[in-house]
Amino acid sequence: MLSEAGHGGQPGKERARVEAKTVHRVQSVRHLTDSAFILRVDRHGLPAVAGQCATVGAAGSGVNREYSLYSGDHDPFFEFLVKEVEEGQVSPALKKCVPGDPVELDGPYGRFVVQAPDDRSRRYLFVATGVGIAPFHGFAGSYPGLDYLLLHGVRRLAERYEKEFYPPGRYIACVSGEPGGDFSGRATDYLRSHPVDPQTYCYLCGNSAMVAEAYEILRAQGLGGDRLFTEVFF
Ligand SMILES: Cc1cc2nc3c(=O)[nH]c(=O)nc-3n(C[C@H](O)[C@H](O)[C@H](O)COP(=O)(O)OP(=O)(O)OC[C@H]3O[C@@H](n4cnc5c(N)ncnc54)[C@H](O)[C@@H]3O)c2cc1C
Repeated sequence: MLSEAGHGGQPGKERARVEAKTVHRVQSVRHLTDSAFILRVDRHGLPAVAGQCATVGAAGSGVNREYSLYSGDHDPFFEFLVKEVEEGQVSPALKKCVPGDPVELDGPYGRFVVQAPDDRSRRYLFVATGVGIAPFHGFAGSYPGLDYLLLHGVRRLAERYEKEFYPPGRYIACVSGEPGGDFSGRATDYLRSHPVDPQTYCYLCGNSAMVAEAYEILRAQGLGGDRLFTEVFF
């Protein structure tokens, strides 16, 4: 079922939702690299919490994929940071969108959210690879008082998407494929050489290999499973 206005997408709902799509107009597409771009669409007042995702697809295509919110809780639009996957069914179509184009959206939903953003005693470590930084951009934009360190694993310097957004000292680029960045190597190499205080709340997002490896490293450093949160993109 499709409708132009928003439906009641509720925070915390499970992902098994298929038929509650709404149509949203594209406001803009900001190209950050040859393959990565930010898609901004109308929000229609839908409720959303940073870290949640929505399924998105070109209207009428009949196929959609999940994308994490890049925008913050209070933004009047939804933004998604998307990496075009060559020969992919959805991401190349989204990259071709221009302002005014319709996209179908279901959600947002999901539980990869900050549990107690107003609790100033909590410290956070966010670990991302590539576009896995999207939910952390949402956290940083929604909760300016959050005490966090963000590790961003990328191959190339150009993939440090909008790094200027993060306050000084909060963002560490772990660059593995060329010299430069804040740390030379992968985010997991950084984790091994910089042990984490076991009281830290750790959020991992990106490709499955990094998430699995980082999870093991952090567990070995004494973090309890109740302080570890994961979101796997592919
Ligand atoms: C909860 C969740 C949140 C997600 N959030 C985002 C997001 O914020 N931004 C985003 O760009 N993607 C995100 N993804 C991935 C996204 O849903 C799609 O898988 C991706 O855009 C490819 O879809 P496609 O139809 O273009 O390619 P498909 O035709 O589905 O698949 C092509 C192949 O590409 C692989 N693939 C998927 N993503 C990547 C990648 N980044 N790099 C290399 N290979 C990849 C798939 O495993 C598959 O084998 C998320 C996935 C999940 C499960």
